[in-house]
Amino acid sequence: MDFKFSEEEELFRESVIEFAKRYIEPKWIELDEQGRIPIELIRKMGEQGLFCIPCSDKYGGMDGTYLMAAIAVEEIAYHEPAVGLAVYTLLNNGWPYALELFGTEEAKQEILPRVAKGEAFYGIASTEPHGGSDVGGTTMRAEFKDGKWILNGEKIYISGVRELQELPYGGGFFTVARTGAMEERHRGLTAFNVLPKWEGKIKPGFEPTIFDDIGRHALSTGGFKLTDFEVEEIHRLGEVGKGFYLVMQGFNLARILVASACVGSARWALDQAVNYFREKKLFGRYLASFQGINFKFAELYAELEMVRLMIYKAAWMADKIYKEKDPAYKPKDLNIPVAIVKMKAPELATKIYEEVLKWFGAYGYTKECNIYRGWLGTFSYTIGAEGAQNIMRYIIARDVIGSEYVRHQ
Ligand SMILES: Cc1cc2nc3c(=O)[nH]c(=O)nc-3n(C[C@H](O)[C@H](O)[C@H](O)COP(=O)(O)OP(=O)(O)OC[C@H]3O[C@@H](n4cnc5c(N)ncnc54)[C@H](O)[C@@H]3O)c2cc1C
Repeated sequence: MDFKFSEEEELFRESVIEFAKRYIEPKWIELDEQGRIPIELIRKMGEQGLFCIPCSDKYGGMDGTYLMAAIAVEEIAYHEPAVGLAVYTLLNNGWPYALELFGTEEAKQEILPRVAKGEAFYGIASTEPHGGSDVGGTTMRAEFKDGKWILNGEKIYISGVRELQELPYGGGFFTVARTGAMEERHRGLTAFNVLPKWEGKIKPGFEPTIFDDIGRHALSTGGFKLTDFEVEEIHRLGEVGKGFYLVMQGFNLARILVASACVGSARWALDQAVNYFREKKLFGRYLASFQGINFKFAELYAELEMVRLMIYKAAWMADKIYKEKDPAYKPKDLNIPVAIVKMKAPELATKIYEEVLKWFGAYGYTKECNIYRGWLGTFSYTIGAEGAQNIMRYIIARDVIGSEYVRHQ
């Protein structure tokens, strides 16, 4: 075993920190308060190479490791703990990489360089009103007519719906739609690139909505209806009827970065506590001298370090599977490590925020003390963004105990 980052990864982390300190940290409260990521900042991040990190340089990517993407998201979340920008970054690394793995050559050439430069957004749209956990129950339909796919249906609670409309070039999503019968469940799904705005134009048949979220304000969550929305054949991802398996691999990749965002934000929260502990006195002694406080701190710190290490392992395994194509590792080997980190990181982050807020006393409950922004931001992942927590528990139980003992239908 080798627990060292490569020199390239170390230097990359330093460069992300330097960038984040200069362009993100001074603005993070403003981003969350105003509920917007400025287009110039997205472009600057593109110039810095913070999107499409694992994608090939042939498509404008950085040709980096997936571990580097995890490092970038963690450090951005550390400097923007409300995680709107960190989530923008994770989506625009995980999902473009899934497109690179499963998309057609034409689609990759058309989409990836735009995303890498920060000109276009590329995320995931799988959730539907009937319930995001039941991807196998997807109802959006795709029919092949006159050489094109015609999509009809609705997606909901989708990150980036406003950003793709605001970015001058546009953007879209890795999406699944039903090409088979409803009874075929997950075997009747096919994956597509749905690009509601592209080359600066909103396409016909796209009807968006935006929600007013309780946190993570910088990045929008919305929904959209598609009515006779046309998708070219080059934007079909993989084989017809195999979309479920592709989107699940995409989720495995993206969930690693979700966990990185939560860990980065929670690291920041613990550092706020450390700074405070070095000043705050009560009963004539340092607050941190009470074991009720410092033991709790030590426990949370230890848990965070364990999850962080597990994230690096999952990212390292993703590199073995997809970058190095090491035959010793298969895509399904990622299921358990990824479900562990997606289950643990958001729950731990929100637990850390709750303790840190309490350590700050009443001040922690005021809006002036901006720590609550990280609490609400990381809580989005405890709710379920990129997969509900119980689904992570289900994946672990299913893969360890055996599907035939755990399956509920
Ligand atoms: C801020 C935010 C951003 C999001 N961004 C995106 C996005 O970009 N793209 C996208 O496609 N979706 C996105 N989502 C939606 C997200 O993927 C869903 O919230 C998630 O998949 C869960 O779906 P649901 O909310 O419909 O809850 P449901 O699936 O209805 O689940 C409700 C509850 O039931 C539990 N549950 C579900 N199944 C089981 C089971 N078998 N056993 C026990 N308990 C179960 C869940 O844990 C959950 O607590 C986002 C959500 C949020 C909050």
